[in-house]
Amino acid sequence: MIRAERIEKYYAQPSQNRIQVISPTDLSIIPGEILALLGPSGSGKSTMLRMLSGLSRPSAGQVFWHEKPIGDAEINVSIVFQSFALFPWLTVLENVEAPLKARGVDPETRRERSLNMLTTVGLEGFQAAYPKELSGGMRQRVGFARALVVEPEVLFMDEPFSALDVLTAENLRSELLELWSNKTMPTRAVFIVTHNIEEAVLLADRIIVLGRNPGHIRTDFKVQLQHPRDRKSEPFTNLVD
Ligand code: ADP
Ligand code: MG
Repeated sequence: MIRAERIEKYYAQPSQNRIQVISPTDLSIIPGEILALLGPSGSGKSTMLRMLSGLSRPSAGQVFWHEKPIGDAEINVSIVFQSFALFPWLTVLENVEAPLKARGVDPETRRERSLNMLTTVGLEGFQAAYPKELSGGMRQRVGFARALVVEPEVLFMDEPFSALDVLTAENLRSELLELWSNKTMPTRAVFIVTHNIEEAVLLADRIIVLGRNPGHIRTDFKVQLQHPRDRKSEPFTNLVD
């Protein structure tokens, strides 16, 4: 579905030469999977997510969506951010409707789909609230509703549970997993960035590990995980794509 070929990223540094954040990397996101990108802070996870989701361009190499170069391809993706990134001046419902509005969906359909999605994420009755009136966990539920309401082919998540307390994160994670396992989550694949190894193992079918040196993908792992969940995807024998 999404394939990166030898992508690299450099950032210009004011006082020094440019630094390489991602060294040449190949990876794919496959329909039906939850793929986790695991690595310590600063290892280049968000940079990788931005390149795969089309938010930024690689310095070298190419990202393909459905085998077309990203610039020529049409693909519906959504991103959930650690900081929720809600519009504070809009109500919960208006936040969820926003991406549908941007896509030109008519007001009635917009409203219906958004209200349904709010129910799915456990926020029935909160449509008129403003983000500041909600707890962190509820705000992230709005973030999920807003991301899922467009039925993205790939749902990207950048540390979506990191700003939440442990218990809230645990609840939200297991609810998300339940939606995914029930096949009620309207997306074909999930790409999640995390620094939490437990979270990666719990959620993912496949894990890619970024090493401590920026952009260094660890290729020295050979791990066989026994996954408790019944999944259609290939059993994975190698953590690295
Ligand atoms: P992670 O998400 O794993 O914490 P990031 O992708 O955010 O890592 O960052 C990787 C490295 O790239 C870090 O050293 C960070 O400081 C640097 N970096 C990220 N974005 C920029 C930018 N826009 N300009 C310069 N350096 C950046
Ligand atoms: Mg990050």
